[in-house]
Amino acid sequence: MDGSSENPPLAPGLYLVATPIGNLEDITLRALRILKQADRIACEDTRQTAKLLGHFGIATPTVSYHAHNEASRANELIEALQQGGRIAVVSDAGTPGIADPGAILAREAIAAGVAVFAIPGANAAITALVASGLPSEHFAFHGFLPSKEGARRTVLEALRDALPHSEPSTHIFYETPHRIVGALEDVVATFGAAHRVSLARELTKLHEEFLRGTAGEVLAALQSRPSIRGEMVLLLDGTPTLALHPIGEAVHATLGAEVAALIKSGLSEKDALKQAAKSRGLSKSEAYREWQRTQPRKR
Ligand code: SAM
Repeated sequence: MDGSSENPPLAPGLYLVATPIGNLEDITLRALRILKQADRIACEDTRQTAKLLGHFGIATPTVSYHAHNEASRANELIEALQQGGRIAVVSDAGTPGIADPGAILAREAIAAGVAVFAIPGANAAITALVASGLPSEHFAFHGFLPSKEGARRTVLEALRDALPHSEPSTHIFYETPHRIVGALEDVVATFGAAHRVSLARELTKLHEEFLRGTAGEVLAALQSRPSIRGEMVLLLDGTPTLALHPIGEAVHATLGAEVAALIKSGLSEKDALKQAAKSRGLSKSEAYREWQRTQPRKR
């Protein structure tokens, strides 16, 4: 609060208001004031937001604003904003614009010269990150992983190949109960069963839990359950691979031996390098450099 009198008048503009991701106590005092004072609240789902507004005794009119009408509804809302309106935007839960509608409206409001205010609050990705036990100084949020296995593996492989070049960091994904086992199986196939992960489930709710451990352990824990439920965030360790192997020379020697064995088994040099790179989480060029170091110098 700015310390001035109660309920200062609300300045014209667009207000992107974060709402709780489960626990209603996570709404901020400022969010409640803005939702009360706005002319209109644009909601991802008006019925969902009606529950929140009812709980806090807020009677501001609502209008729907979701993935399917985001572009067309934006025009109408921008016109109202240009006439000095005060419009709040909320999604079903958490921060608008983060895996939810809101970004198009913000962009268009900025282009139209309208003031845009972000009203901070709950967000599942950040809430999961800070209690994950994984690095939080650097992180990348990727939204939802693709639902199809092929596309999902491609995304995971690209992240794995980038590991040797990255800062210690964490990759954050939103997931769904029916896709989490497939996603973790792909993490095991891509990064290996020993890769560190954290799964945050039902954050801020009664059955909140964190499953922290290796990808293999978390996968086995989920597979042993009769059913998998709830909202969830999957976090993968993004610590550079080479840092995990302080015995660098041993890694190089093993890579050389592996490439030699693969060539002996009939693979071309290129395919052998590709496979050895994949099994170590190295990019092809990185593996090539390491392999060259193990080769006898040609005179
Ligand atoms: N805008 C929201 C935010 O700021 O976090 C995210 C909306 S996105 C459509 C919904 C996804 O967020 C869920 O499928 C889940 O991955 C994650 N999520 C939302 N609430 C959660 C919670 N309470 N616990 C764990 N994950 C949650």
